[in-house]
Amino acid sequence: MIQRILITGGAGFLGSHLCERLVEQGHDVICLDNFFTSQKSNIQHLLGAPNFEILRHDVTLPIFLEVDQVYNLACPAAPGHYQYNPIKTIKTSVLGSINMLGVAKRCGARILQASTSEVYGDPEVHPQVESYRGSVNPIGVRACYDEGKRVAETLFMDYHRSNQVDIRIVRIFNTYGPRMHPYDGRVVSNFIRQALNNQDITIFGDGQQTRSFCYRDDLVDALIAMMNNEGNFVGPVNIGNPTEFTISELAQKIIELSAASSRLVHKPLPSDDPTRRRPDISLAKKELAWEPKVSLANGLQHTIDWFRSINLQDYRPPTPNYS
Ligand code: NAD
Ligand code: UDP
Repeated sequence: MIQRILITGGAGFLGSHLCERLVEQGHDVICLDNFFTSQKSNIQHLLGAPNFEILRHDVTLPIFLEVDQVYNLACPAAPGHYQYNPIKTIKTSVLGSINMLGVAKRCGARILQASTSEVYGDPEVHPQVESYRGSVNPIGVRACYDEGKRVAETLFMDYHRSNQVDIRIVRIFNTYGPRMHPYDGRVVSNFIRQALNNQDITIFGDGQQTRSFCYRDDLVDALIAMMNNEGNFVGPVNIGNPTEFTISELAQKIIELSAASSRLVHKPLPSDDPTRRRPDISLAKKELAWEPKVSLANGLQHTIDWFRSINLQDYRPPTPNYS
């Protein structure tokens, strides 16, 4: 059935792909964004579609819309972006969630929250399972994002328990792919940009910290599966690729795939940088019959090809915090 779907943060990396997929499926899609970490070119190709519309709006402010589903993705996601104005980041997660839960409650819409593996902080349990409560430094530089997302989860559960709002919570692990902001300062975009220019690859710390990288198509499949899952399962559910790599291994792979002559250089490790991260996705497999299909090598190749195809001058760094 055709749904009226609101996607907050819809012009961003993940949001723009989600918009594209839902427009293709024939849904009536509203993309709401304040364009802090994105730009119109991400969704320009959708502008001619009769079932697509853009609203420049900030989720920290109330809004009245009539919709059937809400994907709440609005929030800067890269450390350099969310630490730029940390108070605004917390407001985006907390006030943004309250405002969007209000929309869902008034309309009787289903609402999905894009939560994050950062709710686990620097985890003592490995791989991370949903029942693990996390190890977050509440006064550290990442807390504006981590704690904001944790409060958002609390708000979602409380609107669900107290007001019967139909919610879904997904905890997204590191995701990459074409259309990630080339100046987001995240590891995949930094390394590819550096490799394509044969510049030094900047490894923070000793490079032995790990991450598990999920390709954007797999992630979008999971978001849609979770939103349309008709059981009583509301989450939280981990969504990510369970294959774990060290940051040094990632650098080597990117150098190989882009045939770069870059050298590896080490820079100081940012504070509170998690040591290990890998999702346990048993719950997603069981409840959503979902698991990622795209290997790191294939996904990186698509991403490198995309970086080769863009003109970096068309992109403005959203904040000065990128290497
Ligand atoms: P992104 O920065 O590309 O997208 C976020 C979008 O939200 C941007 O278009 C930005 O302009 C918009 N936005 C920010 N603050 C806003 C506000 N106050 N009002 C309206 N719009 C606002 O990041 P992304 O990687 O596409 O992430 C999307 C969501 O997924 C985020 O909520 C993020 O926390 C979550 N997530 C992403 C990852 C990842 O690896 N990409 C991992 C975990 C969680
Ligand atoms: N990192 C790095 N070099 C860079 C950017 C990031 O070594 O140029 C490291 C960073 O310290 C972290 C990992 O790569 O250990 C992933 O960082 P990112 O900012 O992509 O996301 P995070 O998972 O930390 O939110």
